[in-house]
Amino acid sequence: MSRVVVVGAGVGGLAAAARLGATGHGVTVCEAAEQVGGKLGLVEAETGSGTFRFDTGPSLVTLPHLLHEVFADTGGPPPDLELTPLDPVARYRFADGTTLDAASDLDEHCRRLDAALGPGAGADWRRFAVRAERVWDASREPFLESPLDGPRTLARLALRRPRDVAAIAPWHSLRRLGASTLRDPRLRTYLDRYATYTGSDPRRAPAALAAVAHAEQAYGGWYVPGGLHRIAVELHRRAVERGATVRLGARVAGIEMAGGRAVGVRLDDGERLAADVVVANADAAQVYGRLLPAGAAEGARRRLARATPSLSGFVLLLAVRGRTPGLAHHNVLFPADYDAEFDAVFGDPARPVQDPTLYVSAPDDPAVRPAGCEAWFVLVNAPRHGRGAGAVDWRAPGLADRYADRLLDLLAARGLPVRERVLWSRALSPADLEERTGAPGGAIYGTSSNGAAAAFLRPANRSPVPGLYLVGGSSHPGGGLPLVLLSARIVADLVDESAGR
Ligand SMILES: Cc1cc2nc3c(=O)[nH]c(=O)nc-3n(C[C@H](O)[C@H](O)[C@H](O)COP(=O)(O)OP(=O)(O)OC[C@H]3O[C@@H](n4cnc5c(N)ncnc54)[C@H](O)[C@@H]3O)c2cc1C
Repeated sequence: MSRVVVVGAGVGGLAAAARLGATGHGVTVCEAAEQVGGKLGLVEAETGSGTFRFDTGPSLVTLPHLLHEVFADTGGPPPDLELTPLDPVARYRFADGTTLDAASDLDEHCRRLDAALGPGAGADWRRFAVRAERVWDASREPFLESPLDGPRTLARLALRRPRDVAAIAPWHSLRRLGASTLRDPRLRTYLDRYATYTGSDPRRAPAALAAVAHAEQAYGGWYVPGGLHRIAVELHRRAVERGATVRLGARVAGIEMAGGRAVGVRLDDGERLAADVVVANADAAQVYGRLLPAGAAEGARRRLARATPSLSGFVLLLAVRGRTPGLAHHNVLFPADYDAEFDAVFGDPARPVQDPTLYVSAPDDPAVRPAGCEAWFVLVNAPRHGRGAGAVDWRAPGLADRYADRLLDLLAARGLPVRERVLWSRALSPADLEERTGAPGGAIYGTSSNGAAAAFLRPANRSPVPGLYLVGGSSHPGGGLPLVLLSARIVADLVDESAGR
């Protein structure tokens, strides 16, 4: 049995703790915050009308079998999360006023595309879907589900499966793939949005992200009644049931090394915890930039410093009086100029997006809002927080408040005049995201997938420091709940393997 310290109780840290506890390791999780879940956070608001519960991060579950799998693998039936399929997965409104209700069933989706965008759109999407499925099949096992071996992974793929590499077409951008398969510009905009699921710019993100569209279509979009934060609560419970100790308010100030390997952690109050294995769920940039002693894993640190950080998000939580006709569970309201959004987020200098895509999630769930009310989670893409190139100082006096106010204006301009019905609101800027989760600059997905090789250059799960592993959205295979769950599985297997299990 190894003594394992996990740094962070995000989804990756909790899932790894549950898995490692289940295979007999002695696990302690140190979480800086007073709440588990990290980005999968929760905010509750008491109002005169009653209590509202807001997820502060994920609002959509994809690849739900991976969630079931972590509970099944840790020795018991999955808790009653009652995952509920969504139809539409999301309601899209384009700048010209066209509305598309996305379906997870391909035939139905194509029918709706023809009806919304005109005949032919469905056939185009069907052609694209064939390609997307090939990309998914080609990348799932050798890339998403396997430990990353840097650019060697790509070379290995190229040698062993040249046809798969041709399907993945790492030299093409998602934008280019859209331009070559989808004739309707609105459909191309719809596809572009999938780049943002990895925090990236569709003009620079690889065509391989077509796999994200396939995964959503093939496995559906799901909700957890009571809010997605319940996933973190149940993972926490499962980790504890498998013997893990989860310490809240325990910030790790450093990873300790001796004889060239990780031997434990130091908390910010000076306490030391010895370990045979350290699993870092904190953002990789924090691990390599701050937690490891200077000079350790210098190559990994330098590689990471060269990568483009992912985009961040500006969140507006709104407790809303009354019900809104025409509002689906997930709503995406596109602007007239989508490229301007990416120019602002990834530009130098970066700037808040003046006319961003508005994403509104308003679950019709009595567990998260009082009767006759709605709990709105509004999210727009935003540049990360900071003072350097490509960042915005979201702590600049008045900026976050002014931006939140602008979003209310934009909601009204796009047909959702909600301002007069707001009972309570809270804005969470990228600076708040950084403060709440330790993600540098509030970058949601660690590094972006901008660039052909970006996915292969992500920090590997096995770090160059013996005894130190990385789990979570900033390491391989990437961000988003399903990929984070995969990273936990990969890490748990690596730790078991090194312990000779
Ligand atoms: C606004 C938003 C919307 C999103 N929407 C979706 C969605 O719809 N669907 C989806 O699948 N994904 C979505 N995501 C992405 C998803 O939330 C993340 O990829 C995932 O939750 C990240 O999990 P993680 O394991 O990397 O840990 P994180 O959530 O990053 O948690 C890391 C934990 O480590 C702790 N920590 C950090 N440093 C230290 C330290 N030094 N000592 C101790 N503890 C430390 C932090 O406090 C935190 O709890 C969204 C994210 C955001 C922010």
